[in-house]
Amino acid sequence: MGHKTAMQERDLNSVFHPMTDMSRLNQDGPLMVVRGEGVYVYDEEDRQYIDGLAGLWCTSLGYANEEIAETAFAQMKTLSYAHLFLDKSSDIAVRLAEQLKEMVPGGFSKVFFGLSGSDANDTQVKLIRYYNNVIGRPQKKKIIGRYKGYHGIAGTAASATGHEAYHKGFDLPLEGFLHTDCPHYYRNALAGESEEQFTSRLAKNLEDLILKEGPETVAAFIAEPIMGAGGVIVPPDSYFPKIQAILKDYDVLFIADEVVTGFGRTGNPFGADTFDLKPDTMTLAKSLTSAYMPLSAVMIPEFIYQAILEASQDWGIFGHGFTYTGHPVSVAVGSKVLEIYKRDKVFEKAARLGEQFQAKLKSYENHPLVGEVRGKGLIGACELVANKESGLAFDTTSGVGRYCLERMRAHGLIARALGDSMCLCPPLVTSDDEVGEIFVRYGKALDETLDYVSREGLLVA
Ligand code: PLP
Repeated sequence: MGHKTAMQERDLNSVFHPMTDMSRLNQDGPLMVVRGEGVYVYDEEDRQYIDGLAGLWCTSLGYANEEIAETAFAQMKTLSYAHLFLDKSSDIAVRLAEQLKEMVPGGFSKVFFGLSGSDANDTQVKLIRYYNNVIGRPQKKKIIGRYKGYHGIAGTAASATGHEAYHKGFDLPLEGFLHTDCPHYYRNALAGESEEQFTSRLAKNLEDLILKEGPETVAAFIAEPIMGAGGVIVPPDSYFPKIQAILKDYDVLFIADEVVTGFGRTGNPFGADTFDLKPDTMTLAKSLTSAYMPLSAVMIPEFIYQAILEASQDWGIFGHGFTYTGHPVSVAVGSKVLEIYKRDKVFEKAARLGEQFQAKLKSYENHPLVGEVRGKGLIGACELVANKESGLAFDTTSGVGRYCLERMRAHGLIARALGDSMCLCPPLVTSDDEVGEIFVRYGKALDETLDYVSREGLLVA
């Protein structure tokens, strides 16, 4: 056990940490973050870190934004709580729903508010179940996610998530959740397979799965335009056109999970713009409030709304919603954040900065430890490998990604290691100089990791 500060000891004695290896945390202690400003966070000893992952892919406008803080304070004084159940509404919830309808591509009809990406994806599943029930297709219920897809941790969302670590020990996935291929060409292509052949094979696999299950039983397919928590997996350009054609052929709804890719992250306002997606519904969270308050949104198309409206005479209430659906402080903050995105041309500036970011990331392509560089806009990753030529991955127990992450932290950069993929997703408001600084620190850590794996004999000839 290393030395712990008093605060770290108190943490370990009182906080049950999410998504955490408890024994490792007990050994190392948590990084106590106590303050944030701009793109920087500070620990209890006032050490400064660039937040290269925007919190958990969410703090798009950075920390300590006065305008947002004042909005929250003013809303708390005006109306600290309101709900949307039954016959109630609030002016501020209406305003945000209107802003979203205007901003989000796809011509959605209504907006349902939740508090997290997980509950929004749970809403998606329930909404689609309900829709199929009221239109008389009670057997059309199965949901197809993808391996490495991440949709949150509530029971249904975790079931759509395609990673064993989020299923093991929780008796998940629930019945009726299936998974299809991860569109990671670098890792999953067969020997000699072109990108075109790869995406055709994946589309065929999806079609075969739908046919095997029976199209009349498959309700929806859920996908992130770019997988974030899967390790920043960018699909080949030909992937989504082929997948969308299959979904159309078998009347399977497409849920676009834009929790990470929404709001300017991929060089366009939404991932749907970047990949020309035509989803039936969309999930939004995180940057919807730049993480100043918890808030999520499900974008609902007219045909689903109409079906539920018509059915309500027989079915009665749509029995789904949260105490905090449309919480006034959350929606007021969301509304202000969208106003700032538009007024300050945040997405346009982020797109320009994204070009610089991608060029810097690409400069590591020749680094001896880097097998693949991938990303779009202001999200990206380098995947570290044991053999650059063959792309052979490090043994999963070797902890190379973790070592590299620790070196980044030592240089004052917070990133994320997903396996051995070193992920970055900085705030959209990062400056040119700050992007430069991120990569100075990132590069130092890569070099030190190369020394480490060489010393430890972890590279495979
Ligand atoms: N969907 C995606 C694509 C995500 O990346 C996440 C979280 O990282 C979620 C859903 C779940 O969001 P939350 O953690 O707010 O429940």
